[in-house]
Amino acid sequence: MNVPLLDLQAQYASLRDEVREAVERVLDSQRFVLGEEVRKLEASIAAYTQTKHAIACASGSDALLLALMALDIGDGDEVITTPFTFFATAAAITRLGARPVFVDIDPSYYNLDTSQVADAITDKTKALLPVHLYGQCAEMDLLLELGKQHGIPIVEDAAQAIGATDRGDQAGSMGAIGAFSFYPTKNLGAAGDGGILTTNNDDLAARLKRLRTHGGANEYEHSEVGINSRLDELQAAVLNVKLPHLDNWSNERARKAAVYDQELLDSTSFELWPPASREEARHIYHQYVIRVPTHRDALMEHLKQHGVGTKVYYPIPLHRQECFAYLGYKEGEFPESERAARETIALPIYPELTETQQAYVIETIKSFKA
Ligand SMILES: *Cc1c(COP(=O)(O)O)cnc(C)c1O
Repeated sequence: MNVPLLDLQAQYASLRDEVREAVERVLDSQRFVLGEEVRKLEASIAAYTQTKHAIACASGSDALLLALMALDIGDGDEVITTPFTFFATAAAITRLGARPVFVDIDPSYYNLDTSQVADAITDKTKALLPVHLYGQCAEMDLLLELGKQHGIPIVEDAAQAIGATDRGDQAGSMGAIGAFSFYPTKNLGAAGDGGILTTNNDDLAARLKRLRTHGGANEYEHSEVGINSRLDELQAAVLNVKLPHLDNWSNERARKAAVYDQELLDSTSFELWPPASREEARHIYHQYVIRVPTHRDALMEHLKQHGVGTKVYYPIPLHRQECFAYLGYKEGEFPESERAARETIALPIYPELTETQQAYVIETIKSFKA
């Protein structure tokens, strides 16, 4: 049997007619950029994330960049974030001439260790950029408290966390700005690149709208220099078809996660830790990531031999990336991030994963002899 890490075909099959109809509607309209479909998506995402404004853009990476631009982050500023995330998180900071200040992760949840954040704050700190990794919110209450105390805004990297909640609050609704990605492999994926920003602040919303269209109040009057980061009607149309299904899909992912949790805990001949989820958080399982303290690579090879797709998110923490060598961080400086990079594996988890497929993944893991 073959079980890929992610299978987009299964989802497309269930929505094929609707998606093709939506795409045809856009083609017939010959309106391709920031039109009715985008406006509809923005309204729906604002409602879904319980925020006042949603502003669509070209990708999750651009969403992060635009968020930091709207907060006037630039040369010499510091932004606190995690080294255990997708590259784009830190890249958005450095592209504006600011410095990413890394803080290690909590080994249970893989999110920022909030107890270490206060020590990293300096008078140059201009934003906190927590990532809701794998679909579980970072511990926002402490971060929000710190932000308030020091007058530092929070940008939530919610690229992996649409629909996740912390104490009932939606990802992307708690900080000053939330940044989401519609990359095809995300829980809500477009047919290409896409992203969206959320905020409850009217001024930030207006500024984000200008910044995504070259900083112009209209086509020809520019009060500042922005970027070109608009969302296509085609992408918005596909997303409008998919969004009503998102909660069902997230629930399916959580149901599958519970099956893995139950089947894998204490039932292997080697040490294996299912992911921990915070009681006060709704985890939407963008990824289901286990920790295998020893024999991680051998287990991955065993799964590969048996046709099960896995992946490591992320094998190289960002402070160890060549392009960030100038920041001066050393190996061993963020031990939990480095350990997670060595010990974790993402298993197949998607709404359409069948019971038979999941049982096969579990059986294959259990058959591994360290
Ligand atoms: C996917 C992702 C992004 C970037 O989104 P793109 O749409 O691919 O540009 C940023 N941060 C995190 C944590 C992500 O997973």
